[in-house]
Amino acid sequence: MQDSNYSTLKMPRYPVYCSGKNCKQLAIYKIAAKWSDGVTSELKTYSFTCANCLTNLLADACIRQMNCVLANAETLEKPIIFPLPSNN
Ligand SMILES: [Zn+2]
Repeated sequence: MQDSNYSTLKMPRYPVYCSGKNCKQLAIYKIAAKWSDGVTSELKTYSFTCANCLTNLLADACIRQMNCVLANAETLEKPIIFPLPSNN
């Protein structure tokens, strides 16, 4: 019977999946960096990740952060890892 798997796919809350390549795990972390233009600041989200893909996706976010072209007053801090609230 395949039906038992079906109910786990229909979770009431919005699952966030890992951004890793070919990864179908649920994300447990968000990788984001604080961006500011000197007036306002916001969190720039790079990816959502599971524990397995964390190292890769963090490295990827760091590369994207370093390659980001900023205007004069803009600052972009290093990506940091935020734990996502648990669904349990
Ligand atoms: Zn993953």
